[in-house]
Amino acid sequence: MNPLIGITCHHDFEYLYMLNSSYVQSITEAGGIPLLLAMGMKNDVSVLVDRLDGLVLSGGFDINPLFYGEEPIQELGEIYPGRDDNEMELVRAFLQADKPVLGICRGHQVLNVVQGGTMYQDIHTQIEGNVLQHIQRARRDHLSHRVQILDDSKLSKIYGTSSILVNSYHHQAVKEVGDSLKVCGTSSDGIVEAIVSEKHNFVVGVQWHPEDTACSGDAPSKKLFAAFVEACS
Ligand code: MN
Repeated sequence: MNPLIGITCHHDFEYLYMLNSSYVQSITEAGGIPLLLAMGMKNDVSVLVDRLDGLVLSGGFDINPLFYGEEPIQELGEIYPGRDDNEMELVRAFLQADKPVLGICRGHQVLNVVQGGTMYQDIHTQIEGNVLQHIQRARRDHLSHRVQILDDSKLSKIYGTSSILVNSYHHQAVKEVGDSLKVCGTSSDGIVEAIVSEKHNFVVGVQWHPEDTACSGDAPSKKLFAAFVEACS
């Protein structure tokens, strides 16, 4: 049976739920059945964990820094604290049940914060030295910078290589890594680009957007979705 995979959406708490269609396409092409989760409606999280086989945390705006013990700096972007609450509750339940979680961009950051990690609110002002262009000025399926993959890690097994090219659309990054999470991918400027839980079967966060590049046929991106959907099966 094809696994049922919940995907969180952006919610503006007025009119709109929003999700790029590339998430749906990537999960479908990898053999999963995507279900968009209407967060913010006081879902019973225990029911979602029981019925879903896996969870994708989609990209979006910044996390309220109060969740990791900081006040907002000037360069913090837009925040939707209600989405943070909902996603964090859902992630805790999935981790508790040890069901697969794939965190993408903001979702990778949510995973880290749930596990007690912290964030750079803005890498360009908070990190000294040269930082790469992490908000690429190119199409979403353009592969703009390298990520070095940790040897003998879950990701090196998935990709079968020690370096991949990724797209990049973030101005924040993981600072202190949360409990039981291990950095398995970094860019050449030292930014944390991928984290994997050492305690769970499949809990992976990536700072890039593999859904956009999987849809245009990028082999490593398709391998990541294939591995995730297999873990959900
Ligand atoms: Mn990047």
